[in-house]
Formats: sequence, C-alpha cells, structure tokens
Amino acid sequence: MLEKDLYRIAREKMVEKQIKARGIKDERVLKAMLKVPRHLFVDPSLIDQAYADHPLPIGSGQTISQPYIVALMTEALELRGNERVLEVGTGSGYQTAILAELALWVYTIEKYHQLLERAKKILIEKLGYKNISFKLGDGTLGWKEAAPFDAIIVTAGGPKVPQPLVDQLKEGGRIVIPVGNEDIQVLIKGIKKGGRLETTPLDGVKFVKLVGAYGFKE
Ligand code: SAH
Repeated sequence: MLEKDLYRIAREKMVEKQIKARGIKDERVLKAMLKVPRHLFVDPSLIDQAYADHPLPIGSGQTISQPYIVALMTEALELRGNERVLEVGTGSGYQTAILAELALWVYTIEKYHQLLERAKKILIEKLGYKNISFKLGDGTLGWKEAAPFDAIIVTAGGPKVPQPLVDQLKEGGRIVIPVGNEDIQVLIKGIKKGGRLETTPLDGVKFVKLVGAYGFKE
C-alpha cells in the first residue's frame, strides 16, 4: 500500500475513534481533520505517533495539541467559511492548517522564531496555503492592524483572557482559550455580547504556558 494511503487510513481512524466518538459533529471540522496531513507537522522521529490520541513534543519545549482538543476548539469557533480568524501560538502549524481549511483568512502569531519558520515552510511551501498571515511576537497583544476578528483561538494556557484579545474580537465573535494556572486549565469559550464576554467552560485541559504581557511572566 502507498504511504499516503496508510496515513489516510490513520486519519480516518483518528476521526472515528478520537473525534466523532467523543461528540464532535461539525461536518466541516471532521472533513478538515480527514484532509490535513498531521504527520507533516510532527518531528520526523515521532511520525509513527502522528495520529495518536495525545500531544507530542515539537521542540523549544512546546507541543502539538492532541487531535481531539484541536477538533473541540475548532468546532467551538463556529466557522462557516467567511471569517477572519486570529490564532495565538502557531506552534507546529497543524491547528493553523485546520483553520485555513475552514475560514477565509488566518492570522497566526508565534513567539518562537524557529517554530514560526518551520510552520511557515510546511504551510506555504509544502501544502500551498494562500490564506495565512504570520507574525513573530507576543500574541497576548493581539494583531491590531488586522483586527477586528470574527474568531480568536489561543493554543497556550494563560492566567486570564488577555484584554487586547477581547477588544479585538467582533461583537458576536467567538474566542476559545485555556485559562488557569501553569499546570492545569479550563478550556473556555467566550462570545462577545455588549462589549463583554459571555463564557462557557468546555473541558479541563493541560496546555503549555501562554507567556507574554497579558499572560504568564517568562
Ligand atoms: N496549536 C499549536 C500549539 C502549540 S503549543 C500546535 O498544535 O502545534 C503553544 C504555542 O504557543 C507554542 O508554540 C508557544 O511558543 C506559543 N506561545 C506561548 N505564548 C505565546 C505568546 N504570548 N504569543 C505567541 N505565541 C505564544
């Protein structure tokens, strides 16, 4: 069997057993997760675990999120195809690819130069995405020039929702972010109503630290 068919089968299994089985229903999210080649985003030495039910190290002390968590967070953003989305914490770029499949434009910010460059290479050169803008820096400050956003996703855990992100979210827009301490967080979905966030908890999670002006200190 061809290698690409083996990965396709691994993705089908991942979507059935890890994602659908846990209640993710958004057909567009399921389709994107069937399509994006997750094995390209993991370290080559861990490629045989690319579709496994857990996070994996990606260098610089960071991790690529568990597939189910990617699906849960993405579904909560309620993307229909015409949104401008801000992502804080590009990391491997896997979540970025899923967003690029589902939204009009993705603005992604990463604080580690090495991770950003690696993600850019895979997303642009290997996979040919044309609807992603990249920025190196502190994502807790948001991306003022590109705001306001229809949806914001933060893939690192902070002590609170950074106020600049609330300011840069459109009325009616959705934000998904893990909030808690450095060891454990609650994944929160917020909808902006009357200038404020109405929040609902989604799940208990463990993300790497969101480090920045409105995050944890270095
Ligand atoms: N979605 C990514 C998750 C990577 S881990 C993936 O699945 O691959 C979280 C990432 O957030 C790390 O790469 C880390 O460097 C980055 N990060 C942490 N604090 C940040 C900040 N203030 N601004 C931008 N990126 C940040």
